[in-house]
Amino acid sequence: MENYELRVNKQKSFFRTNKTKNLAFRLNALQKLRTAIKNNETELIEALKLDLNKSEFEAYSSEIGMILEEIRFTIKQLRSWMKPKKVKTPITHIGSTSFIYSEPYGVALIISPWNYPFQLAVAPLIGAIAAGNCAIIKPSELTPKTSEILSKLLEKNFPEEYISVVQGGVETSQALLNEKFDYIFFTGSVHVGKMIMKAAAKNLTPVTLELGGKSPCIVHEDANIKLAAKRIAWGKFMNAGQTCVAPDYLYVHHKIKNEFLTYLQEAIKDLYGEPRHLTRIVNEKHFKRLCSYLNNGEKFLGGKINQEQLLIEPTVLTKITWEDPIMQDEIFGPILPVLEYDEIADVIEGIHHHPKPLALYLFTESENVQQHIVTNISFGGGCINDTVYHIVSPYLPFGGVGTSGIGAYHGKGSFDTFSHKKSILKQTTLFDIPLRYPNIKNGLKKIKFFLK
Ligand code: NAD
Repeated sequence: MENYELRVNKQKSFFRTNKTKNLAFRLNALQKLRTAIKNNETELIEALKLDLNKSEFEAYSSEIGMILEEIRFTIKQLRSWMKPKKVKTPITHIGSTSFIYSEPYGVALIISPWNYPFQLAVAPLIGAIAAGNCAIIKPSELTPKTSEILSKLLEKNFPEEYISVVQGGVETSQALLNEKFDYIFFTGSVHVGKMIMKAAAKNLTPVTLELGGKSPCIVHEDANIKLAAKRIAWGKFMNAGQTCVAPDYLYVHHKIKNEFLTYLQEAIKDLYGEPRHLTRIVNEKHFKRLCSYLNNGEKFLGGKINQEQLLIEPTVLTKITWEDPIMQDEIFGPILPVLEYDEIADVIEGIHHHPKPLALYLFTESENVQQHIVTNISFGGGCINDTVYHIVSPYLPFGGVGTSGIGAYHGKGSFDTFSHKKSILKQTTLFDIPLRYPNIKNGLKKIKFFLK
């Protein structure tokens, strides 16, 4: 196992040259990254096909295109984000001005998962570059073709003292975590997230943890049922349900359940009826885990599997309760369990008994129900009358809360995540208000006038 101290130290030395702090340097790096991705588009699509059988449409829209758009947005905004932000100064500080500087942390470690192996490694990298950091990326070992292309692409375009990729599995990740980084950005499971935080705690390294969990999707009696069915089918079954923010399970109002399920069946057939285009389950372990859920409740739709190709048909299970095995952990696959409810209070109660979700989706036309759910349930983020779409807006920072994660990114959120906010008070030397000094006459009385 390589000792990563040398690699990290090289980046630390490079960071100290201050080159990465320069606006033109950062813009150039982002532009270079964009061009390199465009030039390697075909290879990336092929790699994603080999690793996960992703269709060209999914590979482009949810991995490549999304990243190109994020880079474009960042390049456009970076100059203004980097400017020290002037803020107000209280009356007690008269004569001075106040600024917040965004300063890069230094060397960042980015550890990413397999489900969107390109996008989830590069999206944080954009933030790291924009904020002026150096970065070491440890992509997933479970999608080796994509990790290989990513590694080559970055090696070819950036010196390793600035950006480098370390390929490998758990041991590699652990060896990297033995080094002292200035920031750790982790995307992956809750279980491993805890280990990352523990490793970071040794050096008090700040972390972002983008984790997972069971994200509920509620379909209320007054929802636009047909549209809800289509948007849910899309969000759940893209990438074979292997999306951290996919609706994990449905809560459907009993009055509209049958009608909704009919529309859902149609939508699934329309969007994912062609088996050729199904994304595969990443490996046999996950395939077996998912197959073990197929006999939970009652099968409403799907359920066919192809063990050789690791494919599972989009599946909908009804008559599900919180006691079923499928409701114990994040599903992360193309199986959608359906719970029924009568009262929205029961939904809130059910969700409250479980860890805070990464995402929540609500389909209803009622403003009251919308406000009620948004203000009564804690979750990372989500959509009203849609699924998944919130994570592709650069204006909405994306992240979890509680066990679904710490911190957020995307758009300016990424720049802020990789920047330390350094507050500076610039004091005048033209006069010196004596108020704070202990030796002024009636000092306590005067100070009490201001600090009350
Ligand atoms: P994982 O936690 O198993 O692995 C993620 C990364 O951590 C990989 O690079 C892996 O090599 C490394 N790793 C694994 N075990 C480790 C250990 N003991 N010590 C140090 N590093 C270790 O996750 P995964 O299976 O690749 O991804 C699926 C999970 O990720 C799901 O729970 C999903 O919800 C979550 N996820 C979250 C987001 C998000 O943005 N919040 C996005 C995608 C996936």
